[in-house]
Amino acid sequence: MSACIFCRIIAGTIPAKIAFQDDRVLAFHDVNPQAPVHVLVIPKRHMESLQDMTREDGDLLAHLLMVCKEIGSDQGLCDSGYRVVTNVGRDAGQSVFHLHLHLLGGRHMSWPPG
Ligand code: AMP
Repeated sequence: MSACIFCRIIAGTIPAKIAFQDDRVLAFHDVNPQAPVHVLVIPKRHMESLQDMTREDGDLLAHLLMVCKEIGSDQGLCDSGYRVVTNVGRDAGQSVFHLHLHLLGGRHMSWPPG
């Protein structure tokens, strides 16, 4: 069995509150939400981070972003706005090494991030 916690969520061996899935992508609510809406959107194919993507993955990357947009709409965030962010590596604070986009919304967010 994979040691990757997000691969285990994809396999269904670790429970998650799923917001959306299709053949390529899974979206689920973050277990430690940093905003009223905090959904993680991940590819079902394991890759550590954005840094692992190639030009050939462009369609998958576009799909991940479109799923964020659609979940943002479903969650009623169109007018108030939302943030999509992906942490890459140590300096960004990445803690789970399976590519994921954080979709955050439902409160005002400051910039720049800490
Ligand atoms: P990052 O620090 O960018 O790697 O983000 C990893 C995110 O995964 C954090 O926001 C965690 O709260 C979240 N997380 C870790 N384990 C789980 C889990 N089992 N279910 C849902 N979210 C998780």
